[in-house]
Amino acid sequence: MKVVFESLETCRLMTKFTETILQIRDNNICTGCGTCAGVCSPEAIKMHIAGGLYVPEINEEKCVNCGLCVKSCPGYSVNFKDLNMRIFKRQPSDKALGHYLGCYIGHSNDFEIRYNSASGGIASQLLISALEKGIITGAVAVKMKSINPLETEAFIARTRKQVLDASKSKYCPVTLSEALRQILREDGKFAVVGLPCHIHGIRKAEQVCKPLKDRIVLHVGLMCSHAVSYIGTEFLLEKLGVNKKQVDSLSYRGNGWPGGLSVKMKNGSNANIPLLGSWHSYWAIFSSFFFTPIRCLMCPDEAAELADISLGDAWLPELRNDRVGKSVIVTRTKIAEDVLSYMSSTKAIAVMSVDSVKVKQTQGLNLKFKKDFFGARLATLRLFGTQTPKFDIQIDRTPSPIDFLRAFYPYLSIQLSSSKHVKSLLTYVPFPLFRLYFGVFKILALL
Ligand SMILES: Cc1cc2nc3c(=O)[nH]c(=O)nc-3n(C[C@H](O)[C@H](O)[C@H](O)COP(=O)(O)OP(=O)(O)OC[C@H]3O[C@@H](n4cnc5c(N)ncnc54)[C@H](O)[C@@H]3O)c2cc1C
Ligand code: SF4
Ligand code: SF4
Ligand code: SF4
Repeated sequence: MKVVFESLETCRLMTKFTETILQIRDNNICTGCGTCAGVCSPEAIKMHIAGGLYVPEINEEKCVNCGLCVKSCPGYSVNFKDLNMRIFKRQPSDKALGHYLGCYIGHSNDFEIRYNSASGGIASQLLISALEKGIITGAVAVKMKSINPLETEAFIARTRKQVLDASKSKYCPVTLSEALRQILREDGKFAVVGLPCHIHGIRKAEQVCKPLKDRIVLHVGLMCSHAVSYIGTEFLLEKLGVNKKQVDSLSYRGNGWPGGLSVKMKNGSNANIPLLGSWHSYWAIFSSFFFTPIRCLMCPDEAAELADISLGDAWLPELRNDRVGKSVIVTRTKIAEDVLSYMSSTKAIAVMSVDSVKVKQTQGLNLKFKKDFFGARLATLRLFGTQTPKFDIQIDRTPSPIDFLRAFYPYLSIQLSSSKHVKSLLTYVPFPLFRLYFGVFKILALL
């Protein structure tokens, strides 16, 4: 089955580029990555929050119809075959992980970094080591805003402290527009940390915007099952009885492995809830796809296949009792291998080579969901009249009836959590019931 995305293709040929961006936004195939706004030199596009997600907003008067926004947009199409050839000069040997040179498990040897990171602190350590060695002059990273701690802000980190201010996963929308603009304003060599869809946008933009290609020398991808809208965070706060206006700071991970949500209030009090591992952990809500952007159901990339290096959580049964954390690492290019061996030789990290099967084991259901049920997810979305993007991906698995059920489950969760009334009812559902609800998906996926 070949995925075709006819109406936007037609639109692209017939109308102004800004109209295409608006079509992408209005058809919910925008990932919110912010690449379009980042590459738009007259700054005709701005990202803003609507419905709990970042979406582009256009000032027609500033637009010079150059087309860079549409050509860079990963929302409506990603040509993986072409980009694999351009970046790696070959097609991936591994359908699930993409092209790779090496697979590893490791962690930062700096306890402060490791303990205060999402998993093993490899992302933060990598940026710090690359800055120290002069490979980069700055790194695009993401922190929670100091003025509004429920929103994220992408910025250029240039020091260890700034890198560490941005550590830990943000389970909420992140747009890179301002940081990309900054890269285009100054000379230098940069690393970018991002989710697979951020990397898709940047790789596409690099094909049409030479300064970006020259300046971004290291693409660090985070493995990604799906994202969560800002409404998801607000929902968690409501469940915890926290007034969002009283929040002073918030982090979704950290304080060891696997860490948890930690909210500091302006009056000095705290609210904490673990990510996993107890009936009262919060990930059961998000892993059940409540508050997931619908665009994530159309996404075929879990392992950040177009990055130089991909990082994830080492979810392995043998590491269940680890309380500090380890990351899983996939290198895809020479620069990634070089930085990794530099970090290892300077004892900044401890790392061991593993088989690709081990990496896949760490991702379990997430990888299965992204890859095996991709065709069923797209077919289900189209059945409900949802527009889907154009990927040059050959789907070789004909969806079975059970695949449709597997695809319907996340669709149902997204629809339920986007209804105001159901959302208010969900705030009364105790945490353990979300875990049971997620159990249904697990059974469906494993059948
Ligand atoms: C939405 C989301 C979904 C994820 N899904 C999976 C998954 O299914 N499987 C898996 O193994 N791992 C997943 N991860 C990645 C994982 O949580 C860790 O980020 C990864 O293991 C790196 O850990 P670390 O300790 O090396 O990172 P740290 O040293 O803590 O650094 C994290 C880096 O990531 C950047 N960052 C954090 N959040 C975002 C974001 N939302 N967008 C862009 N940049 C960000 C920070 O700026 C920082 O530079 C996901 C992360 C996110 C944000
Ligand atoms: S066509 Fe060019 S100028 Fe117009 S919004 Fe897109 S990038 Fe900006
Ligand atoms: S470039 Fe990113 S933010 Fe802009 S329209 Fe496309 S997907 Fe949305
Ligand atoms: S699932 Fe895909 S589209 Fe959604 S946040 Fe992750 S990489 Fe982006």
